[in-house]
Amino acid sequence: ANTLDISKIDFAKGDGLIPAVVQDADTLQVLTLAYMDEAALRETLDSGQATFFSRSRGGRWRKGETSGDFLNVVSVTPDCDGDAVVVKVRPVGNACHLNRVSCFGDEDAPGLGRIGRLERTIQVRAQADPNDSWTARLIAQGPKRAAQKVGEEGVETALAGAAGDEAELASEAADLIYHLLVLLHARNMVFQDVLVVLAKRAEAAKTEA
Ligand code: AMP
Ligand code: ZN
Ligand code: ZN
Ligand code: ZN
Repeated sequence: ANTLDISKIDFAKGDGLIPAVVQDADTLQVLTLAYMDEAALRETLDSGQATFFSRSRGGRWRKGETSGDFLNVVSVTPDCDGDAVVVKVRPVGNACHLNRVSCFGDEDAPGLGRIGRLERTIQVRAQADPNDSWTARLIAQGPKRAAQKVGEEGVETALAGAAGDEAELASEAADLIYHLLVLLHARNMVFQDVLVVLAKRAEAAKTEA
């Protein structure tokens, strides 16, 4: 998160403040919009926790300082002309003080963001007691067990698809995606590794076209 060059940020345009769009790093859900002065941006980069300038209180505000709902920073990226930033975070709790996931509502993460959230849930559950968590139990049995489950669910997905049962196909495909993420986790991989391959293929398809 510390690769951002603060000297390139234009604070003057907004009377010392820039808007910071805060986005969940895994689900890409927009969580909140807040403002930063230069000190807040520095503190964000140095501490790894999103820190803003509160316009209502007129001063420094480390999100979570009283609630415990800190926003752990993954990256800070400036926009095209350096007068705004997007801050990708892993939230400790709810980003909104009304106890909603996002200040813009409590809807679920958009579209494919669900997969990011599921992946994060698997990472958390992997640390749990195998007696309490199905995911922890599965991971404790090693990658070959997860691989076997992917095979089973793949076959069940294929059978549902061949039969044309839409509800069954959706359900088995969900099983398959869950177990695929568990398998990747068991092999110390992340879904991003898959997305990188997809991106490369999209590039290759572009040059062929
Ligand atoms: P916190 O930073 O979560 O410890 O909350 C401290 C105070 O900041 C709260 O009592 C709210 O007044 C305010 N606050 C916290 N989160 C938000 C938010 N997402 N949007 C606006 N105000 C907030
Ligand atoms: Zn701009
Ligand atoms: Zn809010
Ligand atoms: Zn199944």
